Amino acid sequence: TMGQMMNQPMLISSIIEHADRHFGNREIVSRRVEGDIHRYTYRDCHKRARQMANALGKLGVAMGDRVATLAWNGYRHLELYYAISGSGAVLHTINPRLHAEQIAYIADHAEDTYVFFDLTFLNLVETLAGHCTSVKGYIAMTDRARMPAETSIPNLMCYEDLIESNSDRYAWPVFDENSASTLCYTSGTTGHPKGVLYSHRSTVLHAYASSLPDALNVSGREVLMPVVPMFHVNAWGFPYSAPLSGAKLVLPGSMLDGHSLYELIEQENVTASAGVPTVWLGLLNHVERNSLGFTSFRRIVIGGSACPPAMMKSFREKYEVQLLHTWGMTEMSPLGTVCTLQSHHALLPQSEQDAILEKQGHAIYGVDMKIVDDEGTELAWDGVACGHLLVRGPWVVASYFKGEAGAALQDGWFPTGDVATIDPEGYMQITDRSKDVIKSGGEWIGSIEIENVAMAHPAVHQAACIGVFHPKWDERPLLVVVRKADARVTRDELIQSYTGKVAKWWTPDDVVFVDALPVGATGKILKNEIRKQLRHHKLP
Ligand code: ADP
Repeated sequence: TMGQMMNQPMLISSIIEHADRHFGNREIVSRRVEGDIHRYTYRDCHKRARQMANALGKLGVAMGDRVATLAWNGYRHLELYYAISGSGAVLHTINPRLHAEQIAYIADHAEDTYVFFDLTFLNLVETLAGHCTSVKGYIAMTDRARMPAETSIPNLMCYEDLIESNSDRYAWPVFDENSASTLCYTSGTTGHPKGVLYSHRSTVLHAYASSLPDALNVSGREVLMPVVPMFHVNAWGFPYSAPLSGAKLVLPGSMLDGHSLYELIEQENVTASAGVPTVWLGLLNHVERNSLGFTSFRRIVIGGSACPPAMMKSFREKYEVQLLHTWGMTEMSPLGTVCTLQSHHALLPQSEQDAILEKQGHAIYGVDMKIVDDEGTELAWDGVACGHLLVRGPWVVASYFKGEAGAALQDGWFPTGDVATIDPEGYMQITDRSKDVIKSGGEWIGSIEIENVAMAHPAVHQAACIGVFHPKWDERPLLVVVRKADARVTRDELIQSYTGKVAKWWTPDDVVFVDALPVGATGKILKNEIRKQLRHHKLP
């Protein structure tokens, strides 16, 4: 027997409709690339999204067509999230930090029909325009007054002209919830980038699940500032979960340095934010150096790479800001696990609570996970056994766009490429990416733990641990360190700081000091780049 409830498709457009009806006056504040602060409401956003949907229709954009964006976190980008997906087309967010050739490859592979871009990327688009054969036109996300006077871009249109010349009378179409909504490419550190094609259903389910109190705890009482870019896995879903709950949104645009973020946080009473660790290191340095404090800021969702425990501690103890550790990936929309404590953990001493909070956390409802050995045999959840992490669930990729890279799944599970332990309470801890694991004498050394110890040293700003060739052990850990400005620490002092903190044979054999670590298009440290640079490093 079938249930007898309404069968309403879960469509992305319903989120902005809900926000308009119930939180119509809630603000969306954006730092524009023009430099000023722009503010309006969910009602305004919905109205302009409808105008843009009409404009897309007139441009001939049809159901399933890919429409690309090269844009920062801002209100026009948010309007496109709804106008493009809501009208049945596919929003293709491109990471503008990728190399131009990679972007051209992606736009071509996706067969993008139009490209919307922030003025910051004018030169980039001029470079690309000749190479993107499927693109019929380009839209500069600005007003008439700021349109470039002279440019080689063919069929260049003005965003505000498109809005102004179209009516806001538009009824969001109703279609199958499994229709494609959004396309994101993985950064493709090896080989070509692969496309992950989200559906309306997967996006709405992810928005629901990620809002839960023990997930990202998105509510109408929050002022949310997603720093994670809207061009990287949909800014972890905040452009959907914030309007779903009526949270005020603060969109920081292109200025992601500590000073600019701090200014916005204080001016707009931001309560929570989200992004990769390198961004928060910048903010922490800024407040420490200038002896500042936070008025409203309470929570940071951190993911994308492991969060150094020392940073977690500094934020909590000095600034009363709680860091929430999460794990996920482009292929998972992206949220998989969140590290929130349960009531019985409150009885534990702080150090034991800290040890749990360092982990990547428990799976949120909708995500199932397991760890397996090289043969695929499932390993125990004992917090010790370490294996390949596999996941499944309704917002996990089933196959890559256009079938790229063959079958994405193994027996119905998606292999994440991460190596992890899971403890008896279900808390998962990433020890490494499988390609970053250091293999010493046939045993694995997890580079994240080595980095965490270094990061706890007061003189260390950033640290990365890589494996380098060793004649006897195959590989041994080498620590690469960026010192804090004006701080002093020697190689021997750092090596000594490992005593009693890790197994003796996990201690790095050597330390190299550098001025900066290479960072990729998603703000993560590029270990393969460091490995290349230090390939010939001779261990003592
Ligand atoms: P890309 O793979 O393109 O760099 P993703 O954002 O999809 O971009 O990266 C996903 C990967 O990032 C995960 O597979 C994992 O290796 C790493 N990652 C994400 N969150 C964490 C975390 N909290 N701790 C450690 N690694 C993480």
